[in-house]
Amino acid sequence: MDKSSEWLNIVEAVKECKECPLHKFRKNPVPGEGSLNAEVMLIGEAPGRREDETGRPFVGAAGKYLNELLSKAGLKREDVFITNVVKCRPPNNRDPKPEEIMKCSRHTNRIIKLISPKVIVTLGNHSGRYVIEYLGGGRWYGVTRARGKVHDLMVLGLRVKVLPTYHPAAALYNPKLKGNLEMEYVRLGEQVTSVNSGRRSKGRTLLDYFT
Ligand code: SF4
Repeated sequence: MDKSSEWLNIVEAVKECKECPLHKFRKNPVPGEGSLNAEVMLIGEAPGRREDETGRPFVGAAGKYLNELLSKAGLKREDVFITNVVKCRPPNNRDPKPEEIMKCSRHTNRIIKLISPKVIVTLGNHSGRYVIEYLGGGRWYGVTRARGKVHDLMVLGLRVKVLPTYHPAAALYNPKLKGNLEMEYVRLGEQVTSVNSGRRSKGRTLLDYFT
């Protein structure tokens, strides 16, 4: 099956999904969007109000800021693929529950396998824990400690560089985070270049660049 057909199947499965209670609150499920051939995949937490209304990920204020961050990496929205660990909006924008993330993993994992990215950027705590600890078998110490490091992991049979960062909304609430967050996206661009040139900076962390 080609990638476009598989993607349409995933979209249909998400639309019909009632695996967790979040389906009761959605106007539209938000499976994700972007290039099916993307080298970089971003995984956020959950759709918010605007995303629920439009069925598209990261279209609110956080999405606008994410576009700015991607430009620091030399990337455009259409170059990457973006999804969330849950595809339906939690009520009152509460955090997704672990059991909801696990129920939605059937879709998340299918999307990761379809895209087969070289780099995964996790946005926030839930996404970081899911990819690094649950899928990658690494230790998760929370986004504040984990951010800035490049984790070289096997994820669903794929060798992937995983870069945990804050969710862009966190920097909108706390502008003091913006400086480091923007530098992380500059370094994301360098990681993509490094992966493509085969010059992997093994053993280095993003924090190495900050000192
Ligand atoms: S959040 Fe995921 S598992 Fe829950 S109903 Fe929506 S698509 Fe299904």
